[in-house]
Amino acid sequence: MSFSKHMRIIAAAAAGVLIMTGCGAKEHDAAFFAMDTYMQVKTYGNEDVSADIEELVRALEDDLSVTDEQSDVYRLDHEGEFGVSDDAYELIGTSLDISRRTDGALDMTVYPVLRAWGFTSSTGYRVPAEDEISSLMEYVDYRRVDISERTVRLPEGFMIDLGATAKGYTGDRICALLAQKDITSAMIDLGGNITALGTKPDGRPWKVAVRCPYEEGYICTLDICNMSVITSGGYERYFEDEDGNEYCHIIDPASGHPVRNGILSVTVAGENGTLCDGLSTAYYVMGAEKAVQKWREYKDHEMIIITDDNYMLVTPGLEDIITVTDDRYTLKVIDDED
Ligand code: AMP
Ligand code: MG
Repeated sequence: MSFSKHMRIIAAAAAGVLIMTGCGAKEHDAAFFAMDTYMQVKTYGNEDVSADIEELVRALEDDLSVTDEQSDVYRLDHEGEFGVSDDAYELIGTSLDISRRTDGALDMTVYPVLRAWGFTSSTGYRVPAEDEISSLMEYVDYRRVDISERTVRLPEGFMIDLGATAKGYTGDRICALLAQKDITSAMIDLGGNITALGTKPDGRPWKVAVRCPYEEGYICTLDICNMSVITSGGYERYFEDEDGNEYCHIIDPASGHPVRNGILSVTVAGENGTLCDGLSTAYYVMGAEKAVQKWREYKDHEMIIITDDNYMLVTPGLEDIITVTDDRYTLKVIDDED
């Protein structure tokens, strides 16, 4: 049954993180709309590579978009087998690695179910019947994506979507481009997913702010260098039914339902933007307790989990670089061990 007519569609707030800059070196600004979001890349130095950055992002979008009929992902989804570009191949491989380390909480094959809920589809938002969800769940299992010799193959009925990792990967690719151009200071903001290259031109760390879920303003700031800071949260895109139940754009691949588990947002910070992006989505799915266990297992990144009972759970590596700016939230540093 479709409730779409009655549903209040809530506009997506731009994602998680705001930038706070302020410096004197020669700044070049690339600002454009791509991948469904407003992007801004500020680079510092003599050479202006803004056009190269925009060209790179548009090329990646052409490969990775799930809705553009010419893209590699679209063709794979509709043809079942496709010799994808190097970027799509690498990102699919890395995303599958992250699926394995998160026990399938990140799962690119959740797309048929995501579409049934009306996300990225022309049907409009709707609450699918349980039997529709359970029949689509037959097509959800990242372990069945076959990737070898630059070709990706999907079983009949399967479709993938790289929306959970594409922006992190794009941030990493922009960094690589800037390194080639000998640019050592840049702030890359892909709709609130931040990658900071080097330090600010004056040598001080970049200051970025983590957004308040559901409201204007921000909850804390972080002082960072050479780091991505990537946030996932249901508040970024969701709809409500006529009874006021909320359904967000992140789907639990175990149930086929939008996640609702007491987490408002997860921010993951680290050197590898693709990993941060994949983990932030996966941790959002897992819930706080399991996310903390996973962090303890790997400890190759930092994180901030904001819960609906007003806690900010923060890994110890952030203690010295975080400033809480919203006193409604209580900061709790996560123990290193159980
Ligand atoms: P992010 O904003 O990085 O957390 O990614 C969310 C996007 O990833 C959604 O808009 C969907 O396109 C897709 N997605 C939703 N749930 C999942 C999931 N469990 N695993 C992988 N991708 C997902
Ligand atoms: Mg993500």
